[in-house]
Amino acid sequence: MTPREVAALIAYVVKLDPRLALDDQAAAGERLAQWCDLLSDVPATAHGWDAARTARDYIARNPYRIQPSDVSRPWHTHKADVMSRHVGTFEPTAHPEIDPDDRFGNAYVAALRAERVAIASGQQAPTTHRAITAGPAAAEVTRRLAELGEYMPPTVAQALAQFRPQRAERERLARDNAPDPLTVACTWCDAAEGEPCRGKSVNPRNQQTRYRPLSKAHPCRVEDATAAHLARNNRQEAHA
Ligand SMILES: [Zn+2]
Repeated sequence: MTPREVAALIAYVVKLDPRLALDDQAAAGERLAQWCDLLSDVPATAHGWDAARTARDYIARNPYRIQPSDVSRPWHTHKADVMSRHVGTFEPTAHPEIDPDDRFGNAYVAALRAERVAIASGQQAPTTHRAITAGPAAAEVTRRLAELGEYMPPTVAQALAQFRPQRAERERLARDNAPDPLTVACTWCDAAEGEPCRGKSVNPRNQQTRYRPLSKAHPCRVEDATAAHLARNNRQEAHA
């Protein structure tokens, strides 16, 4: 907490427990300095954490005057709890920014450490679900993402998503291991595999036919892709 946040917290607890009020300016300054020191590594708020709420709960349940440790101790317990829930798996699909050949080298350790620091300080929510990391489903997700090609760090891909909606949508479907219409050709408009469905338009002036890409696949193509997807998944489950 910054000195400003600590001062706000003290003002709050004094309001809840008037016994904590200090008339003496010097004593108030001393207390502020002490609390600042003891709460310097405790955030005001973090994921699932609120220092003011912790102080309020303490005052509501205890007859004793609140001490800085009554805020810092619960924070360290909270932090330990959050860290134990964080699975911290570093699968290549989850961390494509790491060179696969260096996964157990410096970049891996640095990324692991940065993530744990971010979670411990409350800047990042813990990963409590395990990503699809094993079995045929994971292999399939990896295969499809690799097929889409051209590796890009997730943050960059996210920033670019709005400029390449079709690509972003295909990556999303691949990550979710959901059917992707573009993996099959369209029997309605004859769009080839990988190409978007086409809408036909005729220029009324010169009667020329033009095709424009459609943002949505034709329903029959979605059906075909879903059938192919299910068939592939079934095959893989049979192999597993
Ligand atoms: Zn089509």
